[in-house]
Parts: sequence; structure tokens; C-alpha cells
Amino acid sequence: MPARSPFKVSLTKDNIVFASAHFITLPGHRCETLHGHNYRTRVVVEGGLDPEAHFVLDFGELKDLMRRLTDEIDHRVLLPLENPKLEIKRQGESITVAYEGAPRYVFPQRDCALLPVPNTTVEMLAQYLAGRAKTELERRAGNAVELTAIEVEIEENFGQSATYREALS
Ligand SMILES: [Zn+2]
Repeated sequence: MPARSPFKVSLTKDNIVFASAHFITLPGHRCETLHGHNYRTRVVVEGGLDPEAHFVLDFGELKDLMRRLTDEIDHRVLLPLENPKLEIKRQGESITVAYEGAPRYVFPQRDCALLPVPNTTVEMLAQYLAGRAKTELERRAGNAVELTAIEVEIEENFGQSATYREALS
């Protein structure tokens, strides 16, 4: 693998946002109430240059990818499947959520995004989206350029965000 590439492209657009509901569990016996954010996404991809186009990758391709991933969780209740304090179960067309054994919410299943994360913090959402984008970028066919890293930043409020960075193979 080459040294860190001198080039990176970054994308933050009005259509790679998601307006979603969530709550996080806190240390001890504390749990937020349900609320929402207009989350914004920024993605950075590092890599070599395409020898013909002289770009790391096509912005259109990156926009399409991130739009697809953020659309999946837009207008949904984000639920963390790996949270040990929550019991998230499917019952017919509904999703029931219990916190520390006490029933708390029932949502229509179609309105939920069940995510493989331990909590829906911006840190975990950034890691989740980076992982999904990484899988898709590594799967691209006819890949002349070596992409070396991806970084995803999720902002839940102005000036309040988390960033996750991962190397690409
Ligand atoms: Zn929140």
C-alpha cells in the first residue's frame, strides 16, 4: 500500500442529509426521549489519480452512492440492534422497543431503520455509513485508481459532529 495519498475529494451536499428520529442510551440507567435531527453528511475519499481523468473518483458516482445510503435512513426512526439495554422486536408490522425490560415504544416497521450499531450516536452513524460506503467502493469494477481511505463526518446540529476514518484495501 502506498503512503498517504496527496489527493482527497470531499463532498457535502444538500441531498446527502437525513431527517431522522432517535434516542441514545446513556451511562447508568439513563435514556434520552425520542427526538429528531436534520443530520448532515460529509464524505472524504483519499486515493491516487485516475491516469486519464486526473481525478480520484467521479463526484457523480460518490454523490449517487451517498444519496442512496442516506435515503435508506431518511425519515426513519433509527434503532440500534446491538444495544444491550434495549430489546427491539418485530411483532407483525410493528417494531416494539423495551428499555431495561420496560416497554417504551411501538413503531410501524416501515418507519424504522434497524441498524447494526450499539447506539445511534453520530460516532456510530459515521462508522456505519463509512463501512457501507467502503464495501461499495471496494466492489467497484474496472477500478484503475487505488482508493486509500474514506472518512465520514455526521453533523447532528450546527457545529456538533463526529468523524470516522477507515483505510481502504
Ligand atoms: Zn439526538
